[in-house]
Formats: sequence, C-alpha cells, structure tokens
Amino acid sequence: MDASVLVDRWQGVLADMAEAARKAGRPPEEIRLLAVSKFHSAEAIGALYAAGQRLFGENYVQEALAKMDALPRDVEWHFIGHLQTNKVRFVAGTCALLHGLDSLKLAQALQKKTEELGVVQDVLVQVNLARESQKSGILEQDLPALAGFLVDSRTVRWRGLMLIPPVFDEPEKARPYFAALRSLRDALERRYGLELPELSMGMTGDFIAAIQEGATLVRVGTRIFGARA
Ligand SMILES: *Cc1c(COP(=O)(O)O)cnc(C)c1O
Repeated sequence: MDASVLVDRWQGVLADMAEAARKAGRPPEEIRLLAVSKFHSAEAIGALYAAGQRLFGENYVQEALAKMDALPRDVEWHFIGHLQTNKVRFVAGTCALLHGLDSLKLAQALQKKTEELGVVQDVLVQVNLARESQKSGILEQDLPALAGFLVDSRTVRWRGLMLIPPVFDEPEKARPYFAALRSLRDALERRYGLELPELSMGMTGDFIAAIQEGATLVRVGTRIFGARA
C-alpha cells in the first residue's frame, strides 16, 4: 500500500482520538494509540514509524520477533495476543507491555523468566467480563489469586487492565463493558492500594466510545492498515 494512504489514515485516527478526548473533557495526551500491525509488513510499519508512530502491537511471537529485527530500536512493541507459557522467554524483556496476562500460571512463568533475566516486565491483566467461553481473559472470580500474586511480584509489574468486548454491530453496545472495566480497575486500586493507570480498550469499530469511558491505550489495526489477509 502507498505510504501516504497509510499516513493519512493514521492521522485520521489521531484526529478522531483527540476529538473524542476533547468531548470527554480529557487531556488528549492521556490516550495513546497502539497501531496493531499483525499480518502487515515491516515496510508498512516503517512508513508509520517515519511519520512518528512509535507504539506497535503484535499478536504472534515469531512474527513479532522478525519485525523487531527489521525495525529501529526505539519502536515500543506491545504484545497483545494470547501468550502461551512456553513462549514467555521470547516476550519477557523485549516487549514494553504485555496486554494479555490472563492466568496465574502465565504470571508465574513470567516471574521465573524475568528473575532469570534480571528484567522487569510491565503487564496488563486481560479480563473476560462477558464470560465468553471461547475468549481469553481471566474471569472476575479468578482475579483475586492473580492480583495477590502480582501485588507481591517484584519483576512482573501490574499496570492496568485490558478488555476485548463481545463483537457487536454497533459500538454503543460495547460501551457498558468499557465502563465496567474502568469500575473494576477503580475497585482493584482501592482494594490493593496501588495504581493501575492503564486501560487498554477500544479497537477500530469502537475506540471513540472506549475513550469516552476512560481508555488510555486504544488498539487500532484495520482502520490504519486495512483488512488483514
Ligand atoms: C487484532 C487486534 C486488534 C485490532 O483490531 P482492529 O479491529 O483491526 O482495529 C486489537 N486488539 C487485539 C487484541 C487484536 O488482536
């Protein structure tokens, strides 16, 4: 794809984000754009990098590693896919933020690896608020055990929550889930006496509603890069 088309779309997303922030009475710099680049080429990422985008989200370990090699060192990579415990060693310390922490088992594997490497890994806990059986994300009933572990961990640093709401035909239907994620975050902060500043929610179809409900990271792929093969 023509780099100027990509850059135009990217600027359109940034403009819509700023407008949504303004309408919600939030400072625009409080909300960051994660460009979700899975299935798209290193060249396409490079075109956005040249325009100034620094945060890119990838879902698959091998694909992410190949792109890390191909792009400048100051790209901030976020891993947003479902991470298997046996792949933890590829992600720990190479990704700025892991969005999909969804089990105690994965947290324990991360702790082991980060201790070995002497690194700190920032994470978001992905919550399955709608209790969809086929989706990743931890159920609210299983949160206390994971939260207790994270509060004590010195190498796995808990930064907030992440949500993929059920698929709806209109963004307004996702809004209650965004609001619920923010309330859950507020409750966890009070209960554990810590700060969980990040709320990763909102994608191509619903990032405006997510920003109005408190998102700090929106994950946008299709609207920037086009449809995935
Ligand atoms: C692919 C993906 C996105 C991007 O979705 P779009 O609808 O293409 O913007 C966002 N978040 C996650 C977790 C994804 O896997």
